[in-house]
Amino acid sequence: MQTQPQASHFIDGEYVEDTGGTPIDVIYPATGAVIARVHSATPAIVERAVASAQAAQAAWAAMSGTERGRILRRAADMIRDRNHDLSVLETWDTGKPYQETSVADATSGADALEYFGGMAATLTGQHIQLGEDWVYTRREPLGVCVGIGAWNYPTQIACWKGAPALACGNTMIFKPSETTPLCALKVAEILVEAGLPKGVYNVVQGLGDVGAALVGHADVDKVSLTGSVPTGRKVYAAAAAGMKHVTMELGGKSPLVIFDDADVDNAVSGAILGNFYSSGQVCSNGTRVFVQKGIKEAFLTRLTERLKGARMGDPMDPDTSFGPMVSQRQMDIVLGYIAKGQDEGARLVTGGNQVGQEGFWVEPTVFADVTDDMVIAQEEIFGPVMAVLDFDTEEEVMTRANATEFGLAAGVYTRDLARAHRVAAGFEAGTCFINSYNDAPVEAPFGGVKQSGVGRENSSAAIEHYSQVKSVYVRMGDTEAPF
Ligand code: NDP
Repeated sequence: MQTQPQASHFIDGEYVEDTGGTPIDVIYPATGAVIARVHSATPAIVERAVASAQAAQAAWAAMSGTERGRILRRAADMIRDRNHDLSVLETWDTGKPYQETSVADATSGADALEYFGGMAATLTGQHIQLGEDWVYTRREPLGVCVGIGAWNYPTQIACWKGAPALACGNTMIFKPSETTPLCALKVAEILVEAGLPKGVYNVVQGLGDVGAALVGHADVDKVSLTGSVPTGRKVYAAAAAGMKHVTMELGGKSPLVIFDDADVDNAVSGAILGNFYSSGQVCSNGTRVFVQKGIKEAFLTRLTERLKGARMGDPMDPDTSFGPMVSQRQMDIVLGYIAKGQDEGARLVTGGNQVGQEGFWVEPTVFADVTDDMVIAQEEIFGPVMAVLDFDTEEEVMTRANATEFGLAAGVYTRDLARAHRVAAGFEAGTCFINSYNDAPVEAPFGGVKQSGVGRENSSAAIEHYSQVKSVYVRMGDTEAPF
């Protein structure tokens, strides 16, 4: 498959190159080989993208919601038809195994385009009667939106941000992570093929400085970032200076609480999904696994057995179920945390090693006997490292589960229904799971509390973050004034 894109950027309905920008090598994480090269956006490219998005916005917003939605839904169908090729590209971009990308990436992007495409025609204002006078509200777009993505789900993030933005009549400039620049270009290409007017969805490449230039641009009205908490703080502050709307989807260190009445195999499955899917590079992962003492040894034994089934290998092989870290840098970070866990005295139950001579592979790793004060229990690792902590009582575990600056997600495994709902209500987190982990259907709001973010993606909640309400007061009689 051709991994080198036609050009680095996609602006005003077409591929655009400017080799004056810093070169960015695209590296296949499974081998470390350079598979493509793009160039970071120059200031001229940033200006061109913003001007294109701005010029296209009014006409796009003036189309009916039905027309806008039809284009998004057509793009969703095209993405599904091309799922194989898009999944292969996602695997080249991220190293995630095809077994995952073929069911979780382009398909999830298509879901967002279909869902918000269907919703576009339903976006309306209100009628508020006030005696004989009345007010009506208009739900209006924000204008030009900037989307900035992390590297773990490049296709999905490009669609999760683009679909609601476009459904509401905004235009978008999307900047992928420099680590995974390929997939968003395909999303833009398909949208245009589906009939999207030029300039409505643009992609520019670049590092943080390009993101910062977009966020600081006077003609940008909204910024949606998926990234780490430190980047979120910077982007939020820069957006505030321009009084821009924001959505912040940031990091986490989420708790997964397993009570001793839980079904052990289901709980192990939840812990695997919440720690090792995408090789642990998932923001909502339940990386602090609190296991009640009565079930601890059974849980660890079963987990260790099940992890023997993780299969590393060629990510394109459909039988491979566990891929590499996205980059050398991420692998080094993860190995650093593993060393830290050992220094801190956590018990290494399984894994802990780098694998192979080429690429960025790290074994699925489990630490037990982890305590709340250890760095591996406090900081987001963003790799395949599970910390298992013991607990005695529900009251105790809730205090400990919530004792973090993060608040993205949380999960509970128990057969006691009342306890499950009580615990879910008590979690300080935006997205919770009962006897499950890491489901992210487009129909449900997704986002964090505390340092993990502001705003929500997906569901009708996302509409609130990509539109604004205008009130129009209508007087039916004469206007009275005091003089
Ligand atoms: P980063 O925060 O490093 O980067 C996120 C994006 O922001 C990248 O495109 C980056 O560009 C860009 N960026 C960096 N600095 C600036 C700046 N000053 N102004 C504007 N843009 C900037 O995150 P990672 O890419 O390393 O992704 C991992 C993080 O993302 C984890 O913390 C993870 O939890 C979080 N995440 C959150 C999700 C959620 O929905 N809550 C989902 C997925 C991941 P570049 O990379 O080119 O420097």
